[in-house]
Amino acid sequence: MNYRNLLTILGFLAIFFTACKAPADHTSSSKAIAPEAFDYALVIHGGAGNMNFQNLPEENQNIFKQALDSALQLGLDLLKEGGTSVDAVEVVIRYMEDNPLFNAGRGAVFTSEGKNELDASIMSGRDLNAGAVAGVTDIRHPISAARAVMEQSEHVMFAGKGASVFAEQVGLEMVDPSWFYTEKSFNTLQRALENEKHGTVGCVALDKEGNLCAGTSTGGMTNKKFGRIGDSPIIGAGTYANNATCGVSATGHGEYFIRWTVAHQISVLMEYKGYDVETAAKEVVEKQLVEVGGSGGVVCLDKYGHPAMVTNTSGMFRAYGNSDGERLVAIFK
Ligand code: ASP
Repeated sequence: MNYRNLLTILGFLAIFFTACKAPADHTSSSKAIAPEAFDYALVIHGGAGNMNFQNLPEENQNIFKQALDSALQLGLDLLKEGGTSVDAVEVVIRYMEDNPLFNAGRGAVFTSEGKNELDASIMSGRDLNAGAVAGVTDIRHPISAARAVMEQSEHVMFAGKGASVFAEQVGLEMVDPSWFYTEKSFNTLQRALENEKHGTVGCVALDKEGNLCAGTSTGGMTNKKFGRIGDSPIIGAGTYANNATCGVSATGHGEYFIRWTVAHQISVLMEYKGYDVETAAKEVVEKQLVEVGGSGGVVCLDKYGHPAMVTNTSGMFRAYGNSDGERLVAIFK
């Protein structure tokens, strides 16, 4: 074998071994190797329902859109500054909990006994840590209580009185139960949607470190029996986040979302079947839930910041934005 042939063979071998080498360690940011990955992204919902142009005239649509836009902006600003996805989800949901337009915190719907009982949860996709509160009556920001459960306790969920005692211990703001009732709870906007008032709020964020977080907060279903807990505080049903797949926040008829483990199922379809986030969300919301009559929707982000906003109702208050400046605020399907 002459010298040139030897060099050619060595060249081929070098190319072959380079191609076979294990991929570089991308643990610091798996986003870096994926095309079309956003530095950060945020998606929110303000509930799904059968709204239409009659029960939600343009003037009212704009009121909701402005609120969604402001909530979105709060979260995007925080992420842009390098804030964590957990911070972004908490800030956005606190804002929506304080806004009586939505069925969460102030302005929440009433139980059949005329009281407000609130549920919330949050999950971190980095370590699968999670926290939730259920049936709370006196914590101003249930999402902050959920976060405190996640970060300052060894548990995942506190309910009722136990949630209140815990929230007080960690220094959260407690309120009189009348705080949640406002004149606005009965204003025209809400009356218009009364029969179909969902208005639960949720948020999924992806931060610059590539960490996903999802959170959901609600007053539950209108006229629910006291003590009834829906899907929103249940990890895997109303909320789920996993850096390997996606983050999900759901809204709709909770009993179905619990039994179909909606949020977790979307993640699992991506993990085991290789679905993209949109296909996975549609499979669960538009096929499985529709077959059994479970109404509602989800907002999701995959690990690159791509959104899926899918509902089987005629509308879902929703908004999405990312580091490339893409932005969407929408209500109808
Ligand atoms: N999923 C909530 C519940 O069942 C209600 C909603 O999202 O409208 O409590």
